[in-house]
Amino acid sequence: MSYKHQFSDGTSFNYPLGKVVCVGRNYAEHAKELNNPIPSSPILFIKPATAVVPFTNAIVLPQGQGDTHYETELAILIGNKLSKASVGEIDDAIVGYGLALDLTLRDVQSGLKEKGHPWEIAKSFDGSCPLSSFVPPDQIKDRSNIEFQLKINGVLRQQGKASDMITAINPLIAYISQHFTLMPGDVVLTGTPAGVGPLSSGIKLEASLESALHVETVVK
Ligand code: ZN
Repeated sequence: MSYKHQFSDGTSFNYPLGKVVCVGRNYAEHAKELNNPIPSSPILFIKPATAVVPFTNAIVLPQGQGDTHYETELAILIGNKLSKASVGEIDDAIVGYGLALDLTLRDVQSGLKEKGHPWEIAKSFDGSCPLSSFVPPDQIKDRSNIEFQLKINGVLRQQGKASDMITAINPLIAYISQHFTLMPGDVVLTGTPAGVGPLSSGIKLEASLESALHVETVVK
């Protein structure tokens, strides 16, 4: 099944999926677990629309490329064009909150980083962005304190709080818009909390966004 934007109540969104703009090391504890320094400004990268698949599709692990890590992230659906936007313009441009996996070929990425090369192929391959449906903002209690989690085979592995982000959601989106124009249908991934790790065949992943959204998938 291919991905199409949807809200959690089954209604569709008028705009097609565009690009997915992602941020690296937006949680201090995650930067620490990979021995990375905390950046002084957000580290951005882009996944193309071809990377996105429905969250509920079984994950097919890339073969012969070392470990594929899961990174569970809060995803933001953009509803207005944003170019060089101010932080004050961002709330009105957010039309949904969802969940994504930023799948990462960790060994490939480490090899590229050692050589000082860009690590696009470790992050933006086909299927590297399982993405859920979106919850409208009015169903979120406190937008600046959203919480989400990931369980693997029933065991809690990742817990994220928007309040723990190094760059909070609205300033992050404003920053992104200084560099890349965001269009309706674009998605922003806000970084992963600590607890990332390799995927293996047969495991079950369950992600939830407070009580507003629950999605599951398996690794083939
Ligand atoms: Zn990530």
